[in-house]
Amino acid sequence: MKQYFVTDALEHVDQEIELSGWVDTIRDHKKIVFLDLRDRSGKIQIVGDEKLKGLSTEDVVTIKGLVKNRPEKLVNPKMATGTIEMEATQVTVLAKSQTIPLPIDTDGHDINEDTRIEYRYLDLRRDRLQKNIMLRSQFVDLVRQFLFERKFLEIETPLLTKSTPEGSRDFMVPSRMHPGNFYALPQSPQQYKQLLQVAGFERYFQIARCMRDEDLRADRGFEHSQIDIEVSFVDRASIMKLDEEMITTVVEQLGYTIKQKPFPVLSYKEAMDKYKADKFDMRTDEDKQNGILAFAWVIDFPFFEKTDEGGWTFTHNPFSAPLPEHRDDLLNKTNIEGILASQYDLVCNGYEVGGGSIRSHEPEVLSSVFEIMGYQKEEIENQFGHMLRAFTFGAPPHGGIAHGIERMLMILLNEKYLREVVACPMTSGGKISVMDAPSKATDAQLKELGIKTVV
Ligand code: ASP
Repeated sequence: MKQYFVTDALEHVDQEIELSGWVDTIRDHKKIVFLDLRDRSGKIQIVGDEKLKGLSTEDVVTIKGLVKNRPEKLVNPKMATGTIEMEATQVTVLAKSQTIPLPIDTDGHDINEDTRIEYRYLDLRRDRLQKNIMLRSQFVDLVRQFLFERKFLEIETPLLTKSTPEGSRDFMVPSRMHPGNFYALPQSPQQYKQLLQVAGFERYFQIARCMRDEDLRADRGFEHSQIDIEVSFVDRASIMKLDEEMITTVVEQLGYTIKQKPFPVLSYKEAMDKYKADKFDMRTDEDKQNGILAFAWVIDFPFFEKTDEGGWTFTHNPFSAPLPEHRDDLLNKTNIEGILASQYDLVCNGYEVGGGSIRSHEPEVLSSVFEIMGYQKEEIENQFGHMLRAFTFGAPPHGGIAHGIERMLMILLNEKYLREVVACPMTSGGKISVMDAPSKATDAQLKELGIKTVV
């Protein structure tokens, strides 16, 4: 492993060190050649003679040299390493690069999406995307630190699982061992995280991958990652407080300013009366210019809404508990339109950036939700029998929340598209970055899976 990143050179003035990276630019002035060497940390100017000749941009090199302070008038204030340069004494070429098929010295916004995605490994070399991906890593690191300090456990849950009614279409995976049967990729780890509470793992979190086969939008992809949290022995106020502390700590550590603390709390009705929407932007134009984050909670959502067929469906999450004062109505299936859920959504700058609820931990309350939605007893048993049974063995009261990581990063980085904060995103047509997927299965694969395609 290399010993130094390029910007570490700042701490090694008057020393000979070795740096490795890519040739970012090269300026040949005959007797003297200037080269900017780039790595993950930034760039440094290298000065040399014929040793640097013959190199071209994006070649990979190791350069040994003496780090020197630049004379005052040659200091470049635009460069993090603008006070120094390195005099090359030895150059080793590790890999040559062909001319790259897209420019990487711009922000890349104006380059055709398909080209950017086909050559994502080059697209990612641009400064803007390097910064986006690094901030993502830092963001997740700070979340983990916050949660581990509060005695949370990070626990993984299966990716090959069963369809969950979370309101979206599932991605299905055929089973070779059980021909004709399918796994579903998780829309969220909702049921597992609740079962982990029954198992006694109070204070769980996971940076969870979630898959939803929904139409793609600028701020929605087939896959996303979420900070997925579940806690036992909590009420709504205390989990909202914990979550608010996490978000506040993390974004402030990253240097952002929050418009209002504690976050304002609006009921769904207040939000609809005031903003005509349950996600809204409370920033002034000046706030927008200054990159201010305006968070707000929305609570007291209706539990159910009418379906087109005249029945009822849940508005957010069937596993939510009703507000305590509406428990009897839920059990008696009375005043259904008036039942409010213990759901809480977090809104930031016009986006929904999180949502969760206190859950039903009593089997009869959960069953009643599905009965209101018109499920027959057998159907409830088939789909949710495992949850209902688990709740008969001493289920602690629990609740949780999840935050879409990409949405949050889009806001922090002022990006309009989710793909700008994902290392290997999909095209808007649902093609996977770099690789040509989805693609046809071979006849042998289909045979093994017991599947015939009709298209
Ligand atoms: N399962 C919910 C979601 O993925 C979040 C939660 O209620 O914890 O949106």
